[in-house]
Amino acid sequence: MKTLTILSGKGGVGKTMLASSLAVLFAKELRLVACDCDVDASNLALALGIKESSFVWEEIETSEKAKLIEEKCNGCKKCLNSCVFSAIHWNEEKNKPEFNRFLCEGCGACSLVCPKHAIEIERVKNGRMGSARSKYGFAVVSGQLKMGESGSGKIVDMLKERALTLAEKERAELLICDSAAGISCPVIASLRGSDFVIAVTEPSPASFRDLKRALQIVQYFNIPYGIVINKWDINKRLSKEIEGFAGEKLLGQISYDRKVVDAIVNLTPVVETECKAAKEIVKIKERVKTQLYKP
Ligand code: SF4
Ligand code: SF4
Repeated sequence: MKTLTILSGKGGVGKTMLASSLAVLFAKELRLVACDCDVDASNLALALGIKESSFVWEEIETSEKAKLIEEKCNGCKKCLNSCVFSAIHWNEEKNKPEFNRFLCEGCGACSLVCPKHAIEIERVKNGRMGSARSKYGFAVVSGQLKMGESGSGKIVDMLKERALTLAEKERAELLICDSAAGISCPVIASLRGSDFVIAVTEPSPASFRDLKRALQIVQYFNIPYGIVINKWDINKRLSKEIEGFAGEKLLGQISYDRKVVDAIVNLTPVVETECKAAKEIVKIKERVKTQLYKP
């Protein structure tokens, strides 16, 4: 089985639009599973027209937080300045520390300095994951980080494990991962085990700069990649520059197309509509297929 990951340095440049369309196209010829690795803003299922109620969700724990065992605490204040995340405050009334769960990273430093063993590091439910089947026949694994929680990289790891297990069960030939944008832990977790990466950008200075940063990670892990310029015609001068930067890595360009906006609004993959952008995505898919399955 091959793993294809679609990422972008900057968010909102068309990554999920492309991932959903490629999944629909590849599903016509291969058994596949899709995995939404963008746990902060998971939209792949939405882009494929899957209702949230179609998912069977389970809560997951990939984060830890400090918890006070009040009866053991003698109010010595030794823990008060031990937290580099400023997550510990003093409750004067109770004469005991309090932990801000949104700031606590579960590092355990406070627990180490407590002479009374009054601080426990407990696992917390920080997200959920589930799967559902799209009307195109393939399963989609998705996950969400809870509001204000940390540990998104570990959630992506769990999602990918789930997706791989499902893919094995369904004898899938392809796993498509829609990565988070940026260059942080969830992106690195998304890249793990990828055979090919599509990096999506728009011809804007911010998007181009962030593309270069994201590609540094891809190159670090030595994963073959290609570049797609979305809405290339909104800034032809910069598109030309990105083309030059991409060289033979350029997989294709997608035109700005009002029908793409209509498709997104109607929760329909772009390739399910008759438009110029859809035809361009079909060509991109063929090039990706060549790269993925080349001997
Ligand atoms: S576990 Fe670490 S981050 Fe959390 S309160 Fe203790 S020292 Fe701060
Ligand atoms: S170091 Fe331990 S005993 Fe002292 S105030 Fe903190 S939690 Fe309580």
